[in-house]
Amino acid sequence: MHDRSTTAGAVLTIDLAALVSNWQRLRRDLHGVLTGAVVKADAYGLGAKPVVQALGAAGCRHFFVAHLDEALALTDILPQDARLFVLNGLAPGAEGLCARHGVVPVLNSVAQARRWQREAEHLGQPLGACLQVDSGMSRLGVSAAEAALLASDTAFRAAVPLAMVMSHLACADDPADPANTRQSAAFRRLAVLFPGVPRSLANSGGCLLSETFHGDIARPGLALYGADPVTGAHFAPVVHLAGRVIQTRTIPAGAAVGYGLTWQAAAPARIATIAVGYADGWLRSLSNAGAVWYQGQRLPIVGRVSMDSFGVDISSLPVDTDIEGAFVELIGPHQSLEDVARDAGTIAYEILTGLGSRYARHYRPAVTPAMLEEVAL
Ligand SMILES: *Cc1c(COP(=O)(O)O)cnc(C)c1O
Repeated sequence: MHDRSTTAGAVLTIDLAALVSNWQRLRRDLHGVLTGAVVKADAYGLGAKPVVQALGAAGCRHFFVAHLDEALALTDILPQDARLFVLNGLAPGAEGLCARHGVVPVLNSVAQARRWQREAEHLGQPLGACLQVDSGMSRLGVSAAEAALLASDTAFRAAVPLAMVMSHLACADDPADPANTRQSAAFRRLAVLFPGVPRSLANSGGCLLSETFHGDIARPGLALYGADPVTGAHFAPVVHLAGRVIQTRTIPAGAAVGYGLTWQAAAPARIATIAVGYADGWLRSLSNAGAVWYQGQRLPIVGRVSMDSFGVDISSLPVDTDIEGAFVELIGPHQSLEDVARDAGTIAYEILTGLGSRYARHYRPAVTPAMLEEVAL
């Protein structure tokens, strides 16, 4: 295989060592709470397989995806004793597949619970599951009355041993939001219906709230991937994105740049064209907003972001700088995921999960116990 950094428009570097260190930091800070990992949406765009392998090697044993499809793509690389949970629930007709592959469904409704119970009774063996209760977000999960019904149903409880009872926080990104306490209280009232069953409430933001939010199993996603669920949390950056300069030009005052000619040079300017566009997840809302970085200089985006390229004003660089063919920083030490998200008018989640498939991807390996052993020999 040729070196794709010479053939792709940009290079996306994913630091698995930073990923693992973020997971270890959460686990350490959560003192004894089992720390899982949410790897839905291809691990937020970073590659579910390498992410699961790195976290699995580090000791993570609870993985969460959104769809059964995502789970089935991971079963063959999952550590033997790890479990894979499907957050979006159990689709009608998926019971057999789910059971056969040992995937644990999150039961979000009574209908789903009944179908899973019937599957267990049909197979003549108990089938584990996670039960989600709605604690106030009104997205997924059973109501309080439904939870009570299932809790007291001995046939259901015998057929479906619960690995976890869970709920999800709507406002964990704002520690001061009173909805957090309301939800955690509502969750506790429902969780007591299932004595002895491990509880799970915290996403990344929840992990940073007080101990009452942590439960027994945490479900962080975003923080693992190096974005801060709340300002100033300082998780280690995992993503670095460098785009190639494919052309430079000098334009006179009055000349304009890009589709719609939406940016006009007030004075003679030097413009560089970067080989990344909205087809790569470099959002069109970054048109005339945001920047890239080169040798410590901020180079503002000028004109609209096209499908495959966008322009930046490089007039601030020393005149003799030969930047054509070079790589500029789109995400990295000068410009975080949050910075890009803010400039694009969105959240880091959307930038991450939108990272395109055309980038040359480089994975910086995590240090595994086996590698350390090798060094010691
Ligand atoms: C996506 C998701 C998470 C992870 O959330 P982050 O904010 O990325 O940590 C946890 N639980 C559920 C139910 C989710 O849907």
